[in-house]
Amino acid sequence: MGKYRLMVVEDESILRMDIKEMLIEAGYEVVSEANSGDKAIELAALHKPDLIIMDIKMPKMNGIKASRIIYQTFQIPSLLLTAYSERDLVEEAKNAHILGYLVKPVSERDLVPAAEIALAQANRLKALANDIKKMEEKIQDQKVIQRAKEF
Ligand SMILES: [Mg+2]
Repeated sequence: MGKYRLMVVEDESILRMDIKEMLIEAGYEVVSEANSGDKAIELAALHKPDLIIMDIKMPKMNGIKASRIIYQTFQIPSLLLTAYSERDLVEEAKNAHILGYLVKPVSERDLVPAAEIALAQANRLKALANDIKKMEEKIQDQKVIQRAKEF
């Protein structure tokens, strides 16, 4: 695989480091890390990673809100990290372009396949968005041609 560029957002620094190491060991490039949702938005804008591993509960802005803003602004998807007690929040995540979630504690055995699937899904979404854009352009062209014929 080409080296995917990932970002890790987690307010617990030890866990953040663990995840980062697991990802690097699995062959990913970790281009950025953050400890809060607002910092995540700032760094996503700067580094444009392929995928973000995002904790839900963080001080200031939570991970779901940050994920939603990042997706809407930069079309970068997130994979959420959640504690068992936060599972109700996953409902909220369904409309934030979340490509999956992992329940803590996170093991390499869970993290790597989840990241692979999320990246594959992200690529499919990107291709689909491109197709839709092309189709919309074609429809626009047809309208112009049609209008020209009517003259
Ligand atoms: Mg947290």
